[in-house]
Amino acid sequence: MRIDLHTHSTASDGTDTPAELVVKARAAGLDVVALTDHDTTAGWTAAAEALPHGLTLVRGAEISCVAEGGISLHMLGYLFDPTEPEFAQARDLLRTDRVRRAEAMVERCRELGAPITWARVREIAGGGAVGRPHVATALVEAGVVADVSGAFTAQWLANGGRAFVEKYEIQAIDAVRLIGGAGGVAVFAHPGAVKRGRTVSDATIAELAEAGLAGIEVDHMDHDDAMRAHLRALAGDLRLITTGSSDYHGTRKTIDLGENTTDPESYGAIAELATGARPITP
Ligand code: AMP
Ligand code: FE
Ligand code: FE
Ligand code: ZN
Repeated sequence: MRIDLHTHSTASDGTDTPAELVVKARAAGLDVVALTDHDTTAGWTAAAEALPHGLTLVRGAEISCVAEGGISLHMLGYLFDPTEPEFAQARDLLRTDRVRRAEAMVERCRELGAPITWARVREIAGGGAVGRPHVATALVEAGVVADVSGAFTAQWLANGGRAFVEKYEIQAIDAVRLIGGAGGVAVFAHPGAVKRGRTVSDATIAELAEAGLAGIEVDHMDHDDAMRAHLRALAGDLRLITTGSSDYHGTRKTIDLGENTTDPESYGAIAELATGARPITP
């Protein structure tokens, strides 16, 4: 069983439509794939409708969070009820503020001499939850940077960078509770991704575990071997599920589907804990 529990589509900052994504997932030899777009479930229906034979779809989302008074982090929610009003409203607020913030980042880029426009960025985002990768793509098109990762520097869009603008984020502990309240399962995405910015302490992860966090993502491209070993030991101490995933973003990142995977026992434990939605097997 090959299981990849973290991917993005055009519903947020991936480059494959949800339908293309599930077809590619099967072609890549996956048996289970989770669609986890940033702050949205907008891709769920199209992914389910295009699901190829032999592939199970886990419906999820990756929620923009903050902890320790200013450290950004991502919380994966799996198999929650998308109509549960409190969590649905939280996702709505997150997406709405993404628009304000992306427009402000475009303005900063323009002030810094980059000839990009909000109209073009909106077009690139194509109605999906808009984020820095869409602004980055516009900067690539304008010849300002060579590739998307070239825009994630202090010159442009990296945390604290010249054109960086903060977005609204919900407290991580609230995200854990909202996901659980909608019958879903919370897994902390890439908790040790130190190159993206500051990361939270083990004590904070322990507090989140107390509040209902079910697991942490261990095998991820942003974790080196030492970080993976550390997180695995921490998960053992806190009795958390460990997962692995590609965090595939299509052509916006170099990683391919299935490059990191989750073992069947961990996946089974997540599916068993969830009460808000079921995995879909055509
Ligand atoms: P946002 O949610 O708008 O703040 O943008 C964060 C997204 O940017 C992440 O989900 C990644 O997809 C992408 N990202 C973050 N750091 C990098 C990087 N160094 N290179 C390429 N993409 C990145
Ligand atoms: Fe992303
Ligand atoms: Fe993430
Ligand atoms: Zn992600």
